[in-house]
Amino acid sequence: MGIIVQKYGGTSVADALRVRNVAERILYTQNKGHQMVIVVSAPAGKTDELLALAKGVAKNPCAREVDMLLATGEQISIALLAMAIDDLGGKAISLTAAQVGIKTDGAFQKAKITEISSKRIKEELAKGQVVIVAGFQGVDEKNNITTLGRGGSDTSAVALAAALQADVCEIYTDVDGVYTADPRLVPNAKKHDEISYDEMLEMASLGAKVLHLRAVELAKKYNVPIRVRSSFNENPGTVVKGGENLEQGRIVVGVAHNNKISKVTIARVADKPGVAALIFTKLAAAEVNVDMIVQSASKEGLADISFTVSKDDALKAEEVATSMMGELSAGLVERDDNKAKISIVGTGMLTNPGVAAKMFESLAENGINIEMISTSDISISTVISCELVEKAVQTLHAVFGLDK
Ligand code: ASP
Ligand code: MG
Repeated sequence: MGIIVQKYGGTSVADALRVRNVAERILYTQNKGHQMVIVVSAPAGKTDELLALAKGVAKNPCAREVDMLLATGEQISIALLAMAIDDLGGKAISLTAAQVGIKTDGAFQKAKITEISSKRIKEELAKGQVVIVAGFQGVDEKNNITTLGRGGSDTSAVALAAALQADVCEIYTDVDGVYTADPRLVPNAKKHDEISYDEMLEMASLGAKVLHLRAVELAKKYNVPIRVRSSFNENPGTVVKGGENLEQGRIVVGVAHNNKISKVTIARVADKPGVAALIFTKLAAAEVNVDMIVQSASKEGLADISFTVSKDDALKAEEVATSMMGELSAGLVERDDNKAKISIVGTGMLTNPGVAAKMFESLAENGINIEMISTSDISISTVISCELVEKAVQTLHAVFGLDK
């Protein structure tokens, strides 16, 4: 039988009992005749704890050393899990990314996987070992340790599944699957049995935290089915796979939110060719990912340019914008960290008019002001004030019939 890649998130390996529970699950599946490759995250809270350590010794810790530090979290989990499997009578070996040969580019904290060698893993599998790989990490050309961005273990798992041509990639987490909205905000959110790669991509990029965005991109590219399920029960979870409109008749499949958004405005810049190019080239050079961009109508040859970035990049974005004020003869740079993005997602929008109107109308009826809007083929997003997130998500969830 084929290879199964299973990934266990931080909560699934948070303490000794849970690690043993995971070990039992793995051996149970292996006993059915599968070859098992396991990817684990750091124990819950560990990565945050390590980041806090770094911030304790340096205002702006060096990116290379941050990755050196963060990668140790996953190393704890792989070693403990291998010990637990051994104790239960199984055979397991833990491997770091360097030991496997998971190569990435050199962008610390947001490295992209460029190549995976399957040789070592296949050798160990042939000996009947459960192979346990540290998620979230890789090594660059010069063997520096890199990390893939928060939540990146999902991406490690899907990349390994693709490289090993695994039958399936199972992502074990603390929720049962992919929901129509975050169940913590919307108690009557519903779990999907299936969702398409495109819809999941959109949900993940718009803030649904259940899967790392790049994991879904890779799964789509290499056509690896992902099953998202809980490590605390036997529920089948949600399958993410190819195809459109898997659940017939739904226009919107989910409401996503992201409350870690900052808005930066560069006010009163000249409305002439090259201004936007300059601003966004400088931001890109500083590795700031810009999301939405709005330019106001020009008045007396001057316009305001506003854009959103993730809160983590906000300070850097503000610094870059401020450093350009002279060059742009800008009037003012303003930063607001209390923003959120609320989005609706669904391939059904492609063929059903009036979805945007319905969204805006229901937000307005609830006194929620929309500050920015953006759309893609299968999603509509709005930027609103942070305090209104819960109300907005609940409203849209009900308006689009997702609780039915
Ligand atoms: N431990 C890393 C994080 O907390 C990676 C992961 O959990 O996927 O972001
Ligand atoms: Mg995760």
